[in-house]
Amino acid sequence: MDEDNCMVDIAKFFLEFTVDESCGKCPPCRIGTKRMLEILERITGGKGEEEDIEKLETLAKNIISSSLCGLGQSAPQPVLSTLKYFRDEYIAHVRDKKCPAGVCKSMMSYVISADLCKSCGICARHCPVGAISGEKKVPYVIDQEKCIKCGVCMEKCPFKAIFKNA
Ligand code: SF4
Ligand code: SF4
Ligand code: SF4
Repeated sequence: MDEDNCMVDIAKFFLEFTVDESCGKCPPCRIGTKRMLEILERITGGKGEEEDIEKLETLAKNIISSSLCGLGQSAPQPVLSTLKYFRDEYIAHVRDKKCPAGVCKSMMSYVISADLCKSCGICARHCPVGAISGEKKVPYVIDQEKCIKCGVCMEKCPFKAIFKNA
């Protein structure tokens, strides 16, 4: 993992797994992890609030102390750990509605640099939804309404003219 990984997204990934694996026998694990996952989905979806951070911590501690087995007792740890070491990333999501790593799609966009674009048209040919348009000698542009943020254009541009705007 490096600066291109979003720590909130990573915590969500681990919780998705434990929510799936919970056997459902005890409510703190069965219901609590689901509520935590919903909060993380809200935060990564750009709809988080500052109070969500405290809610996550309270839920995590309650789930750890009251779950019957190791799964529930460890499920909230990725959230607590990322909150401890990468709290600033959570704050950027809830307060500034920004994903510093440029991973959370609701908070980023792909843009073409007019200065670097050579109007070759390669990106437009590879875009799966026809979101890029342009013509010879004119910089290409991305229609943000159509763009599904797949990132293919950035991979394909031979002139490194496409950037993530996080
Ligand atoms: S803590 Fe263990 S027993 Fe309780 S619901 Fe989760 S997996 Fe089942
Ligand atoms: S591939 Fe790059 S240089 Fe070519 S049109 Fe697209 S953005 Fe411009
Ligand atoms: S990110 Fe994907 S959908 Fe959006 S403009 Fe680029 S290729 Fe098209």
